[in-house]
Amino acid sequence: MTTARPFERLALIGAGLIGSSIARAARTQKAARAIVVTARSGATRRRVLELGLADQVAESNAEAVAGADLVIVSVPVGQSGVVAAEIGPHLRPQALLSDVGSVKAAVMREMAPHVPAGVHFIPAHPVAGTEHSGPDAGFAELFVNRWCILTPPPDADAAAIERLSAFWRALGANVEIMTAEHHDLVLAITSHLPHLIAYTIVDTANELGGVTRSEVLKFSAGGFRDFTRIAASDPTMWRDVFLHNKDAVLEMLGTFNEDLSKLTRAIRRGDGDTLFELFTRTRAIRRGIVEIGQDIEAPDFGRPHPAQIELPRPYAADND
Ligand code: NAP
Repeated sequence: MTTARPFERLALIGAGLIGSSIARAARTQKAARAIVVTARSGATRRRVLELGLADQVAESNAEAVAGADLVIVSVPVGQSGVVAAEIGPHLRPQALLSDVGSVKAAVMREMAPHVPAGVHFIPAHPVAGTEHSGPDAGFAELFVNRWCILTPPPDADAAAIERLSAFWRALGANVEIMTAEHHDLVLAITSHLPHLIAYTIVDTANELGGVTRSEVLKFSAGGFRDFTRIAASDPTMWRDVFLHNKDAVLEMLGTFNEDLSKLTRAIRRGDGDTLFELFTRTRAIRRGIVEIGQDIEAPDFGRPHPAQIELPRPYAADND
């Protein structure tokens, strides 16, 4: 059992895939004594009640954070600043404020001005997700064996960083700490660019004149299917990611376009050696990902169901 102290009152702003997964995992792991959840629409708040995800469903962001010692903002990154402005005046002194946004530097810039002195602001990004969204999409095991990256500002309180790290470890995640700028560069290549490529290729296929839509769907197992899964990701979330991580994405996109031009030239010239060498290098990268446990050999449809994934041992019930 973890020896970390659970939070008294966890407030979750946003109850989509990530917020509702945190609610489920925090409850299973006894990481907070009480969980209060809110979302923008009445429909989502009602659904949270029906699903029994929280001890209390608040009607507004300000109401949700009252008295909370941990507040996690789990909304599309374009809403982070708006939410911070709403909750800032209502945060309890010494509360720990965090978020889960897929972009860090812009989110920190937009949230930080609204964080009162005495509140510990430690941004975070759990690198875990699926293409689904909304409160029904979440599950308690989402973060198991995934990384959660914390990007504390330079003057952040060490004890607060450790407390948030312990929270994420209790939810099954491994924790890494880095600067927001470095996070944005790393995620631009590992997550943002792949999503952009998937969105592009699926739309390109959709617009092909000489190939029918039914053929694209019928023969999708040849690689296209994996792209369609990524390209089904939430449009609001991903629009906001690209608008807020513009510089890093453009930098990576520049390098990618150069590399694509090299491959285009190799194909045009019939340069099989270049193609073979590159494909051999990339195959080794895939093996490395499997070896460190970030994916399994089985194709998507052979993967374990979330119910087969094990959470770590929960917080001790009598801990305080
Ligand atoms: P989601 O399923 O679309 O849920 C978003 C939630 O935010 C909804 O409950 C929505 O409420 C609520 N919301 C939006 N604006 C709000 C506001 N102004 N005040 C209060 N609540 C508001 O999104 P998600 O996938 O959980 O993503 C949430 C965050 O996690 C994003 O910043 C994303 O970058 C990050 N993230 C996502 C993934 C992923 O794979 N999905 C992975 C890691 C991190 P309504 O339902 O009422 O609109």
